[in-house]
Amino acid sequence: MKFRLSKTWLALVAIALAAPVAHAQDKLTVVTTTEDLAAIAREVGGDRITAESIARGYQDPHFVEAKPSFILKLQKADVLVAVGRELEIGWLPPLIQQSRNAKVQVGGAGYIDASQQARILEIPQGQITRAMGDVHPLGNPHYWLDPENGKAIAKEISDKLAQLRPNDRSFFEQRLNDFTSRLTEAGKRWASMMAPYKGTKVVTYHRSFPNFAERFGLDVIGYVEPRPGIPPSPQHTLDLINEMKRQNVKVVMVEPYFDLKTPNAIGRATGAEILVVPPSVGGVKEVADYFKLFDYDINLLIGALKKVGTQAQ
Ligand SMILES: [Zn+2]
Repeated sequence: MKFRLSKTWLALVAIALAAPVAHAQDKLTVVTTTEDLAAIAREVGGDRITAESIARGYQDPHFVEAKPSFILKLQKADVLVAVGRELEIGWLPPLIQQSRNAKVQVGGAGYIDASQQARILEIPQGQITRAMGDVHPLGNPHYWLDPENGKAIAKEISDKLAQLRPNDRSFFEQRLNDFTSRLTEAGKRWASMMAPYKGTKVVTYHRSFPNFAERFGLDVIGYVEPRPGIPPSPQHTLDLINEMKRQNVKVVMVEPYFDLKTPNAIGRATGAEILVVPPSVGGVKEVADYFKLFDYDINLLIGALKKVGTQAQ
C-alpha cells in the first residue's frame, strides 16, 4: 500500500514537472525588428511562440539606437523577422553579427525577410543609392501599412514557424487562415469607411504611407522631407506650401517621431490640419495590435477630413 502510494505520488510529480517544462521548451523565441511584425507573429504563433520587438513603434524604424540588450535578445532567438528592403540597414547588421547566433544570420534557418511576398511600391528606376541620401534604395519599406501585405507577412512567418516546428504545422496554418479572414473582414470595413474620401489629397512628412494611400484611396501629393531621410529645407518647404495652396491640400500626416516645427509652419501658411499619425503598432498606447493600427489611423484621418471638409470633387 505504502509502495503504491509513493509510486503514484512520484508519477504525479513527474507529470506536474514535465508538462510545463516541455511546453516552455517548445515555445519558439521570435524576435522582430518592429512592433508591427511582432503583432503579426503573435497572431500566427499564438501560445507556441513568444514574440518581442527590438524597435518601439514610436521610434523611427530607419534610425534605431543599437543597445547591448538587443544583442542579448538576438542571442536567444530562434527566429528573427525583419522588414527588409534595407529599412534596418543602419542598425540591424551589427546586432545580428554580434549575437553570434547562426539561426538569425541573414540566410540562417531562423531568418525571415518579411518583404518577400509583399507588394512593394516606389522601386527606383535607374540608380539610386544610399550615398545620395535616400533611405529607400530598394523600394518603399513601409509596406506593412496595407492589410493585404499584412497577410503576406503572416504567410511568411507561418511558413517559417511550420518549417521549424513541423508537428505544429496545422496549428500555424489554422491561425494564419483565421488571421487572414479577420483581416479580409476588417479590410472591407476600413475601405467602406474611407470610400467617401477617395482621391483626397494629402501631404505626409516621410514616405511612410504609399501602401496605405493606395489601399484606401488617398492621393499623396508631396512630402515635408525633400527626400526620404533628408530633413526639410526652407526652399522645399516654400515650394510645398505653394503646391498645397494650388491643390487645396488640407491635411498633413506626420509620423510621431518627427519634429512638428516645420509641419506647424506649413499648417499656419496653408490652413491644413497637422495630424500625428502612427505608422506602427505601439506608435501610440491605444494601438496595441495590427487591427488597432488601421482602426486608429483611419478614425483619426476621417475625423480630420470631416473637420476640413475635404472631399474629392
Ligand atoms: Zn522610410
